[in-house]
Amino acid sequence: MSELFEKLKPHLEQQFALGNALTLYGWDNETLAPKEAMENTAKIIGTLSALSYQALVNDEVRGLLSALKEPKEFDALSNVEQCIVKKLTKNFDRLEKIPADEYRAYSELTAKAAPAWANAKQNNDFASFAPVLKEIVTYQKKFAGYTKNAGMSLYDAMLDENEEGILTKELDVFFEKIKEAVLPLLKKVVAQNDKVDKNYNFRSYPVEKQREFCRFLAEYIGFDFNRGVMAESAHPFTTNLHNHDVRITNHFHEDNLESAMFSVIHEGGHALYEMGVDDALTLTPVGGGTSMGVHESQSRFYENVLGRSEAFWKPLFEKLQSTYPDALSDVDLTQFIRGINKAEPGPVRTEADELTYPLHIIIRYEIEKMLMEDMVSVEELPRVWNEKYEEYLGIIPKNDTEGVLQDVHWSGGMFGYFPSYAIGNAVAAQIYAYMHNEVNVKECLESGKLMPIREYLREHIHCFGSTKNMNELLVAMTGEPLNADYYTKYLTEKYTKLYLSE
Ligand code: ZN
Repeated sequence: MSELFEKLKPHLEQQFALGNALTLYGWDNETLAPKEAMENTAKIIGTLSALSYQALVNDEVRGLLSALKEPKEFDALSNVEQCIVKKLTKNFDRLEKIPADEYRAYSELTAKAAPAWANAKQNNDFASFAPVLKEIVTYQKKFAGYTKNAGMSLYDAMLDENEEGILTKELDVFFEKIKEAVLPLLKKVVAQNDKVDKNYNFRSYPVEKQREFCRFLAEYIGFDFNRGVMAESAHPFTTNLHNHDVRITNHFHEDNLESAMFSVIHEGGHALYEMGVDDALTLTPVGGGTSMGVHESQSRFYENVLGRSEAFWKPLFEKLQSTYPDALSDVDLTQFIRGINKAEPGPVRTEADELTYPLHIIIRYEIEKMLMEDMVSVEELPRVWNEKYEEYLGIIPKNDTEGVLQDVHWSGGMFGYFPSYAIGNAVAAQIYAYMHNEVNVKECLESGKLMPIREYLREHIHCFGSTKNMNELLVAMTGEPLNADYYTKYLTEKYTKLYLSE
């Protein structure tokens, strides 16, 4: 046992506890907190953030980490301890470069930005949100300037924070490949749309029944309600305190069957990841999912690869029909499967189908790059947003609520996050291609026994927490790092079979 590491532990515990309190406030602000709490809560969050910062960035921790990095000390650590020291050093270096007063002011700003964004979205009032967003962008650029490595652009630094080592250069190639495959495919698929009747989806689906069915779906894919809860928020999300307390939210629309069902499968996929982290890692800095991209691979694997397949619904469709007999009695499984996969350009990312989805991400990626390179101002965002939607999806959002204001991310300073969704799709397709060697996925789905799938993911991804990064996990599992070809092949085969093979 390393004496130095033992001395580090109380600092880790303190930072973890404060981080947990902040996470819990974040959850509360999105779900139950009263509107007028925010101003005072923002101050409390500011205080906690400052404490959390001091718990890690202090002379004692600095001394311990530099001593632990010495080969003699480092080699004596366990594998997990080594991962913790490496991760901590990275966080420490980053945090130390950001002045404490700026970090605190920024934390307060993003806490206030959440309701400012929600109001702006509700009232279709981008102008009221623009000054807040401008401040956030200024801070983000400043922080990226402090933390970026030599040779990185500001946006590279933001990307690197989300997915280690995946920078603008790689992503430009990655998205180019996706554009080349998706744009012509989408054109062909959309031309068949008059043969796909999806009207059933917009009939009346009582919210109470949706809640019940979504709870069932969560349990069906393996969400453990002894370790997790579900609540409601404007935008579905997952948060986790540790592997025994994982929380997801949903949002219900009476006139939309799919929206909440696929949200719960998506957020459930995130939750399974966190619940599956090894007990030996939880409550440590490596006790959560390794990156946004790998997280999205898990949620999108469940939502799209499994959840939108015919095999998944075969054992469930009767139950779905009997839950909503008035709305679904004249719909059969084939129509339903074609319906839930219908590709149709629309303005809202979270409601997008699997084929148009990456285009929503490409739009955000290109806009974020422009914003960080000063090629567009915050005030110009609504116009640029609409132009990109016209260019890639052939539509113009009818207002900013369904346009530039639709996503919560920028109000939380999450720049460089959106590409993770597309990376997640690609990782999911790559995993799927290899999973067949060990698990008969189709048989599992058709028999309604999903546990072998969850266990496979647990064994190869979940249990490691963040002791391995995305490419390390992929190489161990599939023999190669991220490769977008699996994703374009998966989309091409799936959509050709569904709509183009008659
Ligand atoms: Zn997600």
